[in-house]
Amino acid sequence: MNDLQKRTWAEISLENLRHNYQAVRAALPAGCRFMGIVKADAYGHGALAVARLLQEAGAEYLAVSCLDEALELRRGGVRMPILILGHTPCECTEELIRNDLTQTVTCLAKAVEYSAQAVRLGLELRTHFKLDTGMSRLGFLCAGDYFAEGVDNVIRAARLPGLVHEGIYTHFASSDETDPASMAYTREQFALFLRVIRAVEEQGGVRFPLRHCANSGAVINHPDMALDMVRPGLLLYGYGDREGKLGLRPGMRLVTTVSTIKFYEPGTCISYGRRYTTGRRSRVGVLAVGYADGLPRLISNKCSFAVPGGFAPQLGTICMDMCMVDLTGLPEVDVGSEVELFGERSDIYRLSDAAQTIPYELLCSVSKRVPRVYK
Ligand SMILES: *Cc1c(COP(=O)(O)O)cnc(C)c1O
Repeated sequence: MNDLQKRTWAEISLENLRHNYQAVRAALPAGCRFMGIVKADAYGHGALAVARLLQEAGAEYLAVSCLDEALELRRGGVRMPILILGHTPCECTEELIRNDLTQTVTCLAKAVEYSAQAVRLGLELRTHFKLDTGMSRLGFLCAGDYFAEGVDNVIRAARLPGLVHEGIYTHFASSDETDPASMAYTREQFALFLRVIRAVEEQGGVRFPLRHCANSGAVINHPDMALDMVRPGLLLYGYGDREGKLGLRPGMRLVTTVSTIKFYEPGTCISYGRRYTTGRRSRVGVLAVGYADGLPRLISNKCSFAVPGGFAPQLGTICMDMCMVDLTGLPEVDVGSEVELFGERSDIYRLSDAAQTIPYELLCSVSKRVPRVYK
């Protein structure tokens, strides 16, 4: 980024990301593998940069959401195993195989399609089977009355030619919540996952070398569920450990600058819809950041940002490219001053709570207009 053009940027600390990787790694049982989740451009941090870092740091596996995300990594020279968590049309089987990608298989019908394509090519597709143990999203149905049929379908899918069944996994619905009902729900999902794996082995003689289920919530709250590999995303980026057990550090600082500062008399309306009126003579700064950069409009009038010398309350409706802050009593702030929206000084949870959302959504919302600056 040209220093003279300083507007709004996302500062990514590769050092903090490496620290987080090592902190999570150190908390895992011996021999447990690490699958770094780099979907959605590594939660906004830049998939290629994060993947290269994880590759160099010794992670065993990466996961992305879709074929395009996986191809971006391959084109960038990432050689590690990559699991695609979402659906890929069976017409892309050859591309999956030629790029040495691992595809999630979510039901028998799709396994049959992938198998037919692989056989036609005379090649083999590496797969991880996904079980739906209570998330009610992708995966072989196996809860309740579906148990026997689910086990049977997994066995039949695993026996199809052209498919290598390297792994089996499931995803938790509430592993990040620690109330008794959520803890129990996660334990039930885990128990069902293990029951299916055992039945598949006993009834079909089918074994999956890599069993995995632990997302960030489970790594923190259910360390006994690590199995052969864990799949943390959020922890890697420095969040999801509100009690600070692992000493994680924010991977991203979202920073903007003050464009101009003016004084207004009491009774002055600020921004669209006149949803803020000054109650005193006010020193008001215009920030070069708006909802087109990823600052949620929902936090209008509800948050404050870290500025030199303190925190500046945000005033009035957040616009597409700008928003206003109250700098009265903050004389250190000048035109050009840096303002941290979230990061080191301003915890992302202040913003995500004000926006009634989660850090994931804020990180993924940092738009492509915002340059990523790697430190
Ligand atoms: C996104 C995702 C993860 C990572 O979730 P975090 O909560 O960020 O750790 C793990 N597994 C699957 C299947 C996912 O889709």
